[in-house]
Amino acid sequence: MSYPKLSLQNVTRRFGSMTALAPTDLVVQEGEFVCVVGPSGCGKSTLFNLISGVLKPDSGTILIDNQDVTGSSGHVGYMLQKDLLLPWMTVIDNIVLGAILKGGASKAQRAAGVALAKRYGLGEFINHYPAALSGGMRQRVALMRTLAMQHEIMLLDEPFGALDSQTRLSMQQWLLTVWSEQKRTVIFVTHDIDEAVFLADRVVVMSPRPGRIREILTVDIPRPRPLSCLTSPEFTALKRKILDLVFLQDSSSEHHDTQESLAHGS
Ligand code: ADP
Ligand code: MG
Repeated sequence: MSYPKLSLQNVTRRFGSMTALAPTDLVVQEGEFVCVVGPSGCGKSTLFNLISGVLKPDSGTILIDNQDVTGSSGHVGYMLQKDLLLPWMTVIDNIVLGAILKGGASKAQRAAGVALAKRYGLGEFINHYPAALSGGMRQRVALMRTLAMQHEIMLLDEPFGALDSQTRLSMQQWLLTVWSEQKRTVIFVTHDIDEAVFLADRVVVMSPRPGRIREILTVDIPRPRPLSCLTSPEFTALKRKILDLVFLQDSSSEHHDTQESLAHGS
């Protein structure tokens, strides 16, 4: 019998009297690429903090490979928007930082880090320091570090949020290559709907007050996805559907700015 890679059952979390996450169910299959979209404050990062065990839920169960991991950490790779590279360490040391922190990177772990760096466009930079790298390169290093930890599930919280739109697009293509070769299960938070549709097998749309999953949409665009799919009718139709969901969920004018930025993927 095969189990889903990740399963959230009735997971909730409050901060004081505020419900950051209303009862939430989510099932993610092995090797899936799932994007999570929704306005600021709808609980996307809370969801990740619960899955990674940084936060404990108030109720509910989180299963990975059918094992109960509720409230316990160390089961998933987690990458934040801010790259958190250590400026005094070289690229290769930053990539194998997980092993270094656990008492030292072995020769084999270092070699694996070098191989990852070479395979994914960082080969020339392994002995550079982060300050010498562009924003996109730094995010590549941060992702290699997450990969090097060897977790089968990777949570990526707006990893390309600070990049300009062209760099972002090339990073998205690069990430799809990494994902298809490395066979990891990826859950990816973004407020950019184009990014979500381009990357995902399924898009989870969340809404705020209280934070919850509003709808989950399947992206039926075949892979590999060329850039031309960004302007295809299927892409546009799905994007419109997600925009409608996001607009629909909050028609009050006070949140107009959020919706505008969602609509423009900024
Ligand atoms: P998102 O990532 O979608 O922008 P978050 O998950 O960060 O949203 O936050 C959801 C809600 O929970 C927000 O109202 C936020 O202010 C609140 N929140 C998040 N973390 C904490 C915390 N540690 N303490 C108190 N409130 C928090
Ligand atoms: Mg967040």
